[in-house]
Amino acid sequence: SCEQTITNGDVYDLDRAYVFHSWSVQSALKPLVIAGGEGCRLWDYDGKEYLDFSSQLVNTNIGHQHPKVVAAIVEQATQLATIAPATANLARGEAAKRIVNLAPEGFNKVFFTNAGADANENAIRMARLVTGRDKILSGYRSYHGNTGAAIVATGDARRVPNEYARGHVHFFNPYLYRSEFSATTEAEESERALAHLRRIIECEGPSSIAALLMESIPGTAGVLVQPAGYMQGVRALCDEFGILLILDEVMAGFGRTGRWFAFEHFGIKPDLITFAKGVNSGYVPAGGVILSDKVADFFQDRYFPGGLTYSGHPLAMAAIVATLDAMTEEQVVENADMIGKEVLGPGLAALTAKYPLVGEVRGMGVFWAMELVSDAAKRTPLAADVMGKIKAALIAEGLLPFVVDNRIHVVPPCTVTVDEAKAGLAIIDKVLAQFA
Ligand code: PLP
Repeated sequence: SCEQTITNGDVYDLDRAYVFHSWSVQSALKPLVIAGGEGCRLWDYDGKEYLDFSSQLVNTNIGHQHPKVVAAIVEQATQLATIAPATANLARGEAAKRIVNLAPEGFNKVFFTNAGADANENAIRMARLVTGRDKILSGYRSYHGNTGAAIVATGDARRVPNEYARGHVHFFNPYLYRSEFSATTEAEESERALAHLRRIIECEGPSSIAALLMESIPGTAGVLVQPAGYMQGVRALCDEFGILLILDEVMAGFGRTGRWFAFEHFGIKPDLITFAKGVNSGYVPAGGVILSDKVADFFQDRYFPGGLTYSGHPLAMAAIVATLDAMTEEQVVENADMIGKEVLGPGLAALTAKYPLVGEVRGMGVFWAMELVSDAAKRTPLAADVMGKIKAALIAEGLLPFVVDNRIHVVPPCTVTVDEAKAGLAIIDKVLAQFA
């Protein structure tokens, strides 16, 4: 076949000639070439295999090329490949129904977007309209997406009710390992971070704050599982001041933490939930907002000034339906929980004990971060050039890591097997030994 005649070099050269990449200095790019994949494995055109411990951008929760999801996309493409959002579509209705069934009591409507960023854009829009307030509080330790100016740059009248890339206020959310609050225990970190948040709310003026937007477990910021009591305290502050709580489940949701939603670990309910990534593992781009009844009721007889050409795109919706059904049937969320408790948790703890280079590991399910330090006592983050060498060594050994700053995020698909998880840990062990 013609595929056999293609080499890594061909694909690499084509990319470097024509593709402009995100978050990069173009001249410094050396993109990895990937030809295909299955489950937790990927391979290139020259036959080299990789164990995917990144889930790409932490989105392939069901692994690569799940046959039921691929078949559902093909089937939908054959029947109806695209349709406008204003129509009623079977796949869209089925996808929304399944998401609602997984959400807590009191969440009964889904607004679909193309990804995580526009899910947050729309949750913010809803919160502002419902509360009649403007400001949005969010953590410094967070990532919520890369849009925000597009609608303000828009010229037609749809801009007018949406000129809102303003009013953002930040606070420090907990991070005991690098505490902003001189805390030495989880209890102190939680209590002081909540006191700080209360002061921010008071100083900004509670009646000016529409929503507090937080990742249930900040992911890119370092898988910062918040200390006991913190998320409950955030919920209580929002209730006290009439602020809507938007929980961003884009990275943490749909199985990653061993639960369908990460906030289930904290026993709280938000007012709006945003999602993307794991909802269909990104086989076709999709995201959305799950509305609590309180928010949905507000728009029952009021105009909602928002929309996207591909909102509820049938291929993405068919992928959601098949993904959620397969994850349920194959107990993929339960697997993520088990892998965290029985393999990754103990395995990463052992690496922490073995290498002073590992300052801390945090996480749950298949959502972990290892923080690498050059001085264990001072917690000095390992230098960027050394992190680059570690990343290159992991890739050379056949493991695709998700590296951010001085951290290796250990985030394989939720479908990872015990053997694959152990194989990945063994590669990390071998590479850390070279740098210890
Ligand atoms: N929210 C969180 C928590 C994320 O991790 C991301 C992406 O990494 C986003 C939002 C943005 O999602 P997208 O890149 O699909 O727009």
